[in-house]
Amino acid sequence: MGQLRDEYGTASNIKSRTTRKNVLDAIEKTMQRLKLFKRPPPNGLAVFCGAIPQNGPGTERMETYVLEPPEPIRVYLYRCDNRFHVEPLLEILREKDTFGILLIDGNDAMIATLRGGQASIVKEMTSGIPGKHRAGGQSARRFERLREAEVNQYYKRVGGHANEIFAQISDLRGLIIGGPGPSKYDFENGEYMNYELKKKIVATVDTAYVGDNGIDEVLEKAPEILRGVRYSEEKRLVQRFLYEVGHDTGLAAYGESEARKALEAGLVSVLLLSEKLDMVHVIIRCRVCGFTEDRLMLPHEVARLEQDIASLQCRKCNNATLEVEKRELLEELAKIGENKGVDIEVISADTEEGQQLLKGFGGIAAILRYAKASSG
Ligand SMILES: [Zn+2]
Repeated sequence: MGQLRDEYGTASNIKSRTTRKNVLDAIEKTMQRLKLFKRPPPNGLAVFCGAIPQNGPGTERMETYVLEPPEPIRVYLYRCDNRFHVEPLLEILREKDTFGILLIDGNDAMIATLRGGQASIVKEMTSGIPGKHRAGGQSARRFERLREAEVNQYYKRVGGHANEIFAQISDLRGLIIGGPGPSKYDFENGEYMNYELKKKIVATVDTAYVGDNGIDEVLEKAPEILRGVRYSEEKRLVQRFLYEVGHDTGLAAYGESEARKALEAGLVSVLLLSEKLDMVHVIIRCRVCGFTEDRLMLPHEVARLEQDIASLQCRKCNNATLEVEKRELLEELAKIGENKGVDIEVISADTEEGQQLLKGFGGIAAILRYAKASSG
């Protein structure tokens, strides 16, 4: 509230009358909304407020959105800008999956989860195995045998806890194993974790420690690990699509028009969209006769069209009364897909497969639930 009061003072100096009024109104509305909260909600709060054009310039209406994020929001951000800064909220959505962390060495083990860039420790265990020096009088062989049995018991115990803990996490996307020395490999390669959990291992990393410091080391490496995981998922998805295309199974659709038809017919199971897809769906509409025309254009073509639109004539009634509506194709297709319960995957252009999707298929590909009805 203190900062908003300051901002209110500063905003009074804005030269443009309209902008000044809009900014002052927005700050006032935001303060009114904040007053409704006796204390900050547990996950924090995001308030978006501004004058939003409803239908071209001059039609702005004040809109306010107050959101309690589904998970703690960890940034403080105040921006007065010509757009809403929603990136921190998108970040929460992006990292909604859980990864498991299991750190182990000869003495200690730790099980933790990693979600939205934050780790929480679930369980700590110690081996209870005494040092490597045998007691006097004990034969070296007997000592080794006993020790091996103890290590085996310890690994079993850790594996049992891991199986139990991670089985309860329904959205477990991968497991990262770490620790100093060879214990982590012995543990990973032995029969201590069940098959389902072993399949989830996405990385085995060296850390100097088990425990909090070890978790910090994993967190440092996590972005790279998660990127690697995502890349292999993306490769698999595109390869699945390429398989359907290559084997002519009838379960593939690509390009804007085919994909849109399949989406609207509810045929799509997975929709692959290249993150580099920058095509814009433009709808040119005549205000007088209602004539409309759909076009797919690149951003620079849209900019040119918008410059020229006032002087262009309607093809039907010849009036210069055309207006332009723009829809980002990626968002539009994703939205149609969302409404139909489609699994929507935005594929980076960082892998060979991602490049193939972009260049070979226009950045739009769909894997279908059922084969399309034959058109012949
Ligand atoms: Zn017209």
